[in-house]
Amino acid sequence: MSQTPLRDPRPAISPESNVSWHEGNVDRERRWARLGQRGATIWLTGLSGSGKSTIASAVEEQLIAVGRWAYRLDGDNLRHGVCSDLGFSRDDRSENARRVAELALLFADAGSVALVCLVSPYAADRAHARELHEQAGLDFVEVFVNTSLEECARRDVKGLYAKARGGALANLTGIGAPYEAPPAPDVELTERLDVEACATRVLAALQSVDA
Ligand code: ADP
Repeated sequence: MSQTPLRDPRPAISPESNVSWHEGNVDRERRWARLGQRGATIWLTGLSGSGKSTIASAVEEQLIAVGRWAYRLDGDNLRHGVCSDLGFSRDDRSENARRVAELALLFADAGSVALVCLVSPYAADRAHARELHEQAGLDFVEVFVNTSLEECARRDVKGLYAKARGGALANLTGIGAPYEAPPAPDVELTERLDVEACATRVLAALQSVDA
């Protein structure tokens, strides 16, 4: 089990910031040993309607059923609270991804399987999330929910594609805003797989990093 601290305590944000890292009395190894499980982050990326939330919910349910602490960090839900001040400009989407990466890091450090469901269209934002975890010695599994734009628009769960077609939504990812597909995700799911098969693949990837 890694004892890498969540943050390198040496470089304070800046000497002028008057902010420094306070290490607690319980380190990750002891916390995870007491829980009898290890934390990790599973990051699902893909277009709106691709299935991220549905698949993450299925994975969460299966993990909870076997007694493993798992928690969904769903982009839509987080925009009700911690990210409620953000819109959908490029900068806001990056800030959204940055905040969710920081949240996932805390959940994973705490011993949970953080299930991030976030369009996260920019490769650099996802790379930053991975880097943050790797630097902290925490497992990070990137899952590309590769459902085609045509299929997402056909499902149109939230009515967003109809809005975009009608000109009422200018910057929907895949229509008026870019989606940078992951070139080398840890897991790639396609629309040919049903939800159960998708969940099984994600759980297998988690098992392989757990080993
Ligand atoms: P996202 O979180 O990516 O925006 P959602 O999970 O909210 O997507 O919506 C995906 C929709 O597609 C749901 O209504 C789900 O039932 C449906 N769906 C159909 N087939 C699949 C599949 N194989 N995997 C995931 N979702 C699927």
